[in-house]
Amino acid sequence: MLDARRKQVVVTQKFFDENSIGFLAEHGCDVRIARLPAGKADGGLTEAELVEILEGADGWIVGHANVTASLLKSLPQLRVIARRGVGYERVDTDAVNAAGKVATIAVGGNDASVADHTLCLMLAVGRRLKECQSGLAGGDWSIPLGSDLYRKTVGVIGLGRIGRGVMQRLSGFEVKSLVYSPRPDWSHSLATGGCYVDMETLLAESDIVTLHTPLNADTHKLINKAALARMKKTAVLINTSRGGLVDDADLLAALQSRQIAGAGLDVFQSESEPGLEEVTRQLIGLPNVVVTPHVGASTVEGLNRTNLIAAQCVVAVLEGRNPPKSSVIADGR
Ligand code: NAD
Repeated sequence: MLDARRKQVVVTQKFFDENSIGFLAEHGCDVRIARLPAGKADGGLTEAELVEILEGADGWIVGHANVTASLLKSLPQLRVIARRGVGYERVDTDAVNAAGKVATIAVGGNDASVADHTLCLMLAVGRRLKECQSGLAGGDWSIPLGSDLYRKTVGVIGLGRIGRGVMQRLSGFEVKSLVYSPRPDWSHSLATGGCYVDMETLLAESDIVTLHTPLNADTHKLINKAALARMKKTAVLINTSRGGLVDDADLLAALQSRQIAGAGLDVFQSESEPGLEEVTRQLIGLPNVVVTPHVGASTVEGLNRTNLIAAQCVVAVLEGRNPPKSSVIADGR
């Protein structure tokens, strides 16, 4: 029997750890981990499936599901939606406000993990790890000549939490960082040793271009045919942010024609835009492209940190308090 004094929290995100479940339980919450169909994340569930899973929930810890006005209408008891991550392009914040609910993101939990992974891709593409690995697997010991990260020029597009983390890590490689941001913040630039430039300069002068902006109407297909044409022929593109930031068909063409030298991709346009699966498949198959399946934030430590931040946001709202200001993306209370 349900204890009416205890709040119901449903988690539809994978890898929710015991410590965070314990934190919620200690704060008067019963936790229900949704059993997702095999091979499906919550972003692949229909609205009807979500309504069924979330019935009776006061709090929802969500991964990549779409949070829409019609879904919220079906969940009158729900008070807080906490994203176990920081991107929130799938959360309709206006609808959350209109419904009188709160939505939060897990700020500060995974930026170190994504910044680490960004460096991992830069090094892997530069040292041609894919070709080394597949060569050796076939008994071929010939040497693909790599290129240093040391003292290169790196263009950082978007200087938020992850962009700054990337620049801090790059300082150990003595790189020159060029930064593009629509709202330059000179204190960040000074702290991390970068210099602000316009987009054209960044694209033309960087040996590596790395993306760290949110996906929105302004940034959709920020890197397209025209942008790729401005890059050096020896340049590498790194995307650990969101697939829609890059026109993947244009990127595929640029890589095939050797207009740029390589890419390191953790995210793909086809993740949010159906019909581009074949383009993704071809990108994955190129020897000069190192790929990972959207794992930038997925370390044990990073996920445990973000799980706990999401749990703390849920508890704050259910206890009538305010979550940290930087985590709140909508508050319609
Ligand atoms: P953040 O909000 O701290 O920083 C984003 C920065 O982008 C801000 O400084 C903002 O001013 C800047 N920006 C906005 N529009 C821009 C534009 N048009 N051009 C240049 N800069 C622009 O976010 P964050 O924590 O650094 O995360 C960045 C993104 O990384 C998230 O939005 C998310 O999409 C992605 N992410 C990916 C993973 C993964 O697993 N691969 C994990 C976490 C986050």
